[in-house]
Amino acid sequence: METLNIQNWIVKYDKRATHQAYSQIDIGGPEACGCEPCLNFAAARETIYPKDIREIFDHIGIDYRKESEVFHCNKEDNGLHCYGGEFLFVGSVENTDEAYNPSEVKANVLNFEDDAQNFVWSFSARVTFRQSVFESKPTALFNFAARVPWVLQTKEPD
Ligand SMILES: [Zn+2]
Repeated sequence: METLNIQNWIVKYDKRATHQAYSQIDIGGPEACGCEPCLNFAAARETIYPKDIREIFDHIGIDYRKESEVFHCNKEDNGLHCYGGEFLFVGSVENTDEAYNPSEVKANVLNFEDDAQNFVWSFSARVTFRQSVFESKPTALFNFAARVPWVLQTKEPD
C-alpha cells in the first residue's frame, strides 16, 4: 500500500489492484442504471471532475468514467442539477481532524459551502455498495456532490 496525505485525510491505496479492478468494470454506474438523469450525468462527465480531482484519481488508480454509483438529487434555482456519487478503490482512509466524527457523516451526503461551488468531495470508509470486482478486497471510497448542467435534448426533470 502507498500513502497519500491530502487535507486531513491519510489515504492508503493499492494503485495496481485498483487499476486492475477498474479494467474489469465495463461501464460506469450511470450507464448501468440508464435512467435519464444518470445518462445526463454521463453525457456531461468530461466537464464535471476538476483537474486536481482527476489527478488524485490517476494517483490512486481510479477510472473517472466508472463511478460505482451516481444519484440525482434535484434541480436547483440556478438551473443546475445536483448529483451525488462515489468511486471505490482498494485501500483505507483515516481522518486526522480531531473534530471529525464518522458517525456524524450521514450516508456520505455532502453539502455545498456556497453558491459558487460546483464540486465538493470527501473520502469515506463507509462502503455500503461494492461493485463485484471489489468484493473480498479492503475497500474505501471517494464521494462527491456536483452541480451539473442538463445537456441532453430530453425534457429536464424538476
Ligand atoms: Zn439512474
